[in-house]
Amino acid sequence: MKAFKHFNAASVDEAIALMRSSKGNANLIAGGTDLLGVLKDEILPDYPEAIINIKTIPGLDDVKQNKKGLKIGALTKLVDVVAHPLVQKNYPILSKAAEAVATPEIRNMATLGGNLCQGTRCWYYRYPHHMGGRIICYRKEKAPCQAVKGDNRYHAIMGGKVCFAVCPSDTAIALTALSAKLEIKGPRKVRKVSVDEFFTPRGNILNSDELLTYIEIPGPAAGARQEFLKYTLRKPVDFAIASVAAIVTVKNGICKDARIVLGAVAATPVRAVASEKLLKGKPAGEKCIAEAAEAAVQDAKPMRMNAYKVEITKTLVKRALRSVLQSGSVK
Ligand SMILES: Cc1cc2nc3c(=O)[nH]c(=O)nc-3n(C[C@H](O)[C@H](O)[C@H](O)COP(=O)(O)OP(=O)(O)OC[C@H]3O[C@@H](n4cnc5c(N)ncnc54)[C@H](O)[C@@H]3O)c2cc1C
Ligand code: SF4
Repeated sequence: MKAFKHFNAASVDEAIALMRSSKGNANLIAGGTDLLGVLKDEILPDYPEAIINIKTIPGLDDVKQNKKGLKIGALTKLVDVVAHPLVQKNYPILSKAAEAVATPEIRNMATLGGNLCQGTRCWYYRYPHHMGGRIICYRKEKAPCQAVKGDNRYHAIMGGKVCFAVCPSDTAIALTALSAKLEIKGPRKVRKVSVDEFFTPRGNILNSDELLTYIEIPGPAAGARQEFLKYTLRKPVDFAIASVAAIVTVKNGICKDARIVLGAVAATPVRAVASEKLLKGKPAGEKCIAEAAEAAVQDAKPMRMNAYKVEITKTLVKRALRSVLQSGSVK
């Protein structure tokens, strides 16, 4: 690793002031489970001059209930999100998605904010500098994307144009289904955005002097059932090949409302809007499950090596819908 200045921020305002004085040449560090790998492998052409530790900011590491729902500090560790009684009771898909992340050791260090802000895992992007030189591509320097002609088995099956990396965050998929809002603080204002507005084809909307402070989740809809499913190649620890978060309300055997979100299929979490529409007002049976699963992937445009991801995504949607529509056991 190269040398850098290290600051412990005592407050959100101090972190912002430090970012501003570094003129875009600083990185925030929370749990460090993503950032330290990026720095050690010299993934990016520009090495930061300063690292600003935000774990030293008090008050951003817990889960609080208020009239609107749940307010989770961005520095709350994944292990605490998984185990929190209110998360388990009212937002089980968030607990399940956070538990699906990496290993217990990583979840003990990693924060919810860091999980949302982590860098892409595209293997061209992450290629270490010390193993023969870093690989330049569109996401780094607007050079051509390596995955288009290269090995794209893990890349996007939807929405790719110039970069085909997929959103690596499991919690983002559950939080999108839960209609969560992210609070972002910068030097002049605080803004709140939905999780799907946060992600962009090349990362996220954060400016170099902004940080994510809170994640707010509205109260759970009465009678809504939730499910999160993730498919990986290596079972104990791996990023998703595909994932799905589904929240469905059923009354008298009829599906009243549905929110279905697909993960690891695009650079952002993807709402399966066609499936949601299809389910509303229909009897909660196998026929509508099959139609909704088909509709979820109707816009898929797989690359040369990843058509298999379309089938896996469809199957996950089917399984998640069976779980929420038929078993009744999942909240
Ligand atoms: C072996 C391994 C397996 C993994 N498997 C999975 C997986 O299956 N699913 C999954 O979702 N993730 C997985 N991850 C990624 C892991 O979840 C992230 O590394 C972790 O969540 C990042 O959190 P952190 O607090 O350590 O962030 P850091 O490493 O400290 O920061 C990550 C990035 O986010 C920025 N950042 C952090 N907090 C904020 C904030 N509050 N505001 C603005 N920017 C911020 C930092 O500047 C940095 O750019 C895996 C990681 C490893 C190493
Ligand atoms: S998919 Fe994105 S991150 Fe990966 S090589 Fe292409 S441009 Fe780079």
